[in-house]
Amino acid sequence: MADDTNEHQPFALPGARARYGPDKLVAVEHIDLHLAPDLERERLEGVCTTTVRALDEPVERLSLDAVDLEIDGVTGAAGFAVHDGRVDVKFEPPIAPGGEATFAIAYRVVKPRHGLFFVRPTDDHPEKIAHAWTQCQDEYARYWFPCLDYPHAKQTTSQTIVVPKGTFALGNGALLERKDEGQTTIFRYRQDVPHSTYLVTMVAGPFVEVVQGNAGRNAVPVYYYVLPGREQDGERAFGNTPQMIALFEERLGAAYPYARYSQIAVSDFIFGGMENTSATTQTDRTLHDAVAHADFSSDPLVAHELAHQWFGDLLTCRDWSHAWLNEGFATFMEAVWREADLGSDEYLYDVFESIETYLKEERERYSRPIVCNVYIAPIDVFDRHLYQKGAAVLHMLRGELGESRFWRSLQRYVRDNAQRSVETIDLIRAIENETGRNLRGFFSQWVYRAGHPTIEVRASWDAARKLATVTIDQKQPVDRERPPYEFDVELILASGERRRAIRAHVERAHETIAVPLDFEPRLVRFDPGAHLLADVHYALGPELAAAALRDDEDVVARIRAARELAKDGGLVAREAIANSFEHERFWGVLAQAAAAIGATRAPWARGVLLRALEHPHPKVVRAAADALGNFRDGDVATALIETARRHASYFVRAAALTSLGKTRDARAFDVLTTALKQRTWNGVVEGGAAGGLAELGDPRALTPILEACGPQGNDGLRRAAVVALGRLGTLVEEARTPVVEALDRFLSDSNFFVAISAVAAAESLGDRRLLPALDRLATDGVDGRLRRGAAEAAIATRKGSKVPAQVTMLREEIDELREQQRKLQEKIEEIART
Ligand SMILES: [Zn+2]
Repeated sequence: MADDTNEHQPFALPGARARYGPDKLVAVEHIDLHLAPDLERERLEGVCTTTVRALDEPVERLSLDAVDLEIDGVTGAAGFAVHDGRVDVKFEPPIAPGGEATFAIAYRVVKPRHGLFFVRPTDDHPEKIAHAWTQCQDEYARYWFPCLDYPHAKQTTSQTIVVPKGTFALGNGALLERKDEGQTTIFRYRQDVPHSTYLVTMVAGPFVEVVQGNAGRNAVPVYYYVLPGREQDGERAFGNTPQMIALFEERLGAAYPYARYSQIAVSDFIFGGMENTSATTQTDRTLHDAVAHADFSSDPLVAHELAHQWFGDLLTCRDWSHAWLNEGFATFMEAVWREADLGSDEYLYDVFESIETYLKEERERYSRPIVCNVYIAPIDVFDRHLYQKGAAVLHMLRGELGESRFWRSLQRYVRDNAQRSVETIDLIRAIENETGRNLRGFFSQWVYRAGHPTIEVRASWDAARKLATVTIDQKQPVDRERPPYEFDVELILASGERRRAIRAHVERAHETIAVPLDFEPRLVRFDPGAHLLADVHYALGPELAAAALRDDEDVVARIRAARELAKDGGLVAREAIANSFEHERFWGVLAQAAAAIGATRAPWARGVLLRALEHPHPKVVRAAADALGNFRDGDVATALIETARRHASYFVRAAALTSLGKTRDARAFDVLTTALKQRTWNGVVEGGAAGGLAELGDPRALTPILEACGPQGNDGLRRAAVVALGRLGTLVEEARTPVVEALDRFLSDSNFFVAISAVAAAESLGDRRLLPALDRLATDGVDGRLRRGAAEAAIATRKGSKVPAQVTMLREEIDELREQQRKLQEKIEEIART
């Protein structure tokens, strides 16, 4: 639990340097785009008319970002020159300070590498419907229109989009006109609220429009757009949008800022969603059927992108180093919707999951301050620190300020900074102006400093002196450069109706808090509301942990108690856990308990998990099925086969199939190869089967997994199968060479997610033969995430930090021995009973 030995990779890769926004020569007042996309030939004809105002000095030459654009001509200027991804426009005479100029650039985009994407039917996927979409974040607008492509510049925009008659086209802002002209349909949009270039969008294709009515204070019309046949799935995915608009307006004290709100679901999208002002692009992977709807929801994605309309769009990070003001807020607002929709347990669990996700990245990759400007590409900072740790900071701020002050502060921040660019200091100032609280120390510790406290909580009772003692230890490395974290935390000591609440100030690595009491505490509650951004471990002892698991109001506290009890494994602990599987009211506690007891591989845990397969909540069953992968046992395999066969949930079936592979049962290969032929939503079940096949550690698995990776497959299945391929390569020596050859190909797959999965598989395999391909991708990959992933995988491979095959095999042998030991243990217990 202490992470002293944790050797982080540095966040900054070789070549990274401090980034600052460029100087401003002009203010861009308006961009007008005339766009004619050709969906068949994958081209775009455009005219970009820009109005600028010179600021402090005469402007003779303006250099715009414009990558791969074929410039046909510039009017309204004295000339132009194209070089190195830019177009320089010359003015004679120069634009005088305060003076305006309007110039038009006519250009063409032909088979673009980024920014603008065309989806077409192919030999492998004849079912695909031709359409086009754009993706400008972070700095890809320049691939489809010339502009000053940086978030701190904001301007109004207008778009005229000309498409074949009957085709739909979406742009930003109000739809001014839609008319047929000859063989074309013309759409005219205008965004009157200034926005950044990375938020400009164009989507064109035969989309179906579904009107969701009007929402919010200004009765804004709400729409979603899907390709034909997906209308029902669209309703399932986007149905709650109007209620979310009303909720966010109420919490933020600010009306939804734009003329309309649309969500459009496109194929092959390279993100989950993109918050273009008034016109979010969503992946069509979020459209789902009725079966998936039982334990899958698009609400987090929908809430996230909607929240960006305020945080990101109306208030925009001034440069990417402050992008947590976009992403941390949008992630936090997902939890706010979950709280309003499903209750406070779900909210708290959402924050808990955020912290766990951040902790995993911090443990396995690197540690960095949330605000950080040293990077190669902006996308480098779009990680779990930015999103999840950012969201956790806001939850902690909510605890620090209290409910009313917190929301008033956010409202003040939105009011004072609407239509502007923001940095973290603007949030600090809004809080100070609203409440008088100076939180510079808070932000310095949680936003500008890397890492977090790792905390162990103990409690004891001295009956003679009637004194309860709670100790709080900070286990993270502490030295002169890294002082202990300083924070206040609430403790509640209770027994039946009697309770005592205190607020403790923690500033030393080892804090002892002594509380005189006239009763022995039976329940010790640490940090009710789980506000502290920390890796918290309970060491309360089995009695107090059992009481916490049973009686603590907070789901997070119950999870911490379950984890302590799982480790303890004594009689009291075992009974407490078994009881919780009977009585616990929140599924998330049981999901976490299942994982914790599964990791112990203890015989008692196996029994609890097998019974949990019958639990009514599919997410509990899924966690139990996952955890049962720790047991190599015929009965477990039988139960998993049965679960995979009869359970309704795709995710449960997938988990059961992967775990079945881990059991190495003789029946598994046939069951898994059969399951691999199913066709379910997003390839979820087949993907689970591919994972299970890899876990078998059987050379026969190579052929079916390779087939599943093939380009004809569903994207979801291909991604899972590529990851499975990497796993098989680590388990089966003779599969290694064909796996390396296949991964070498998939690293340059045209499907972004397949390529990124291949990077992950290459990193886990750590085979030096993949270095040339990884190095190539790290330098030449057009997408920043691929470059970053490939660079990290190459560094890890060179370091040889991956476990050699002999070690994997020895670990396998240890597992076998453990299994034998477990069976003997069971025999002993059986004899003892009779
Ligand atoms: Zn986002």
